[in-house]
Amino acid sequence: MRVIFLGPPGVGKGTQADAIAKHFQVIKIATGDLLREGVAKRTALGLKAKSFMDAGGLVPDDVVIGLIEEKLSLPESESGFLLDGFPRTVAQADKLTDILSQKSQSLNKVIYFVLSEIEIVRRLSGRRSCPKCQAVFHVESIPPKELNVCDFCLSDLVQRNDDMPETIQSRLSVYKEQTAPLIEYYRGKKILSELDGSGDVSDVRERLLLALSGP
Ligand code: AMP
Repeated sequence: MRVIFLGPPGVGKGTQADAIAKHFQVIKIATGDLLREGVAKRTALGLKAKSFMDAGGLVPDDVVIGLIEEKLSLPESESGFLLDGFPRTVAQADKLTDILSQKSQSLNKVIYFVLSEIEIVRRLSGRRSCPKCQAVFHVESIPPKELNVCDFCLSDLVQRNDDMPETIQSRLSVYKEQTAPLIEYYRGKKILSELDGSGDVSDVRERLLLALSGP
């Protein structure tokens, strides 16, 4: 299985990605998580990426493509992968096609998560994230067992800088300008499946399992 989760920020891709990757026994590669790890560890890559991320913009293509090349060269990627948050530009998508074709591989499916903008903004502004294990919660719909504490590693939860109200609108504009063209890009390749991202986590998971089990 070689799959991409595509869609605007806040649509639920990250919330579903771990369980789906586990279910199909493939690795999850989330460029946002990798970049945040770099920021937290203050690596050269993290320092380069931070200002773009905080402003709600995209990190330059060469930086994220480097990350993806590294991950896709690992033996764990040979049996399949789930990409969450990559590609986000047509240049990234073209590069991904090249990397895969060099290994005589291709993508099976691109799942395009669809959700109203009102619900996206509600989900992003209520999101709370674990800076250590990257688990994601929501103040109303996925509250942690203990207020502001991660269920999995007990770290204090934070509101990401890019989930602040003023940055949410920039991220949505960047998505519309730079990432949304990938919908038609992959529809043209006949591998795009639209997925209704509304409802609770288990509703969406059921729809996803169905979408990914089919041809
Ligand atoms: P995410 O966790 O996927 O919402 O990503 C958080 C931030 O990381 C984004 O707003 C971008 O600044 C950056 N980022 C993640 N993936 C990419 C990508 N494929 N291309 C460029 N920037 C990215």
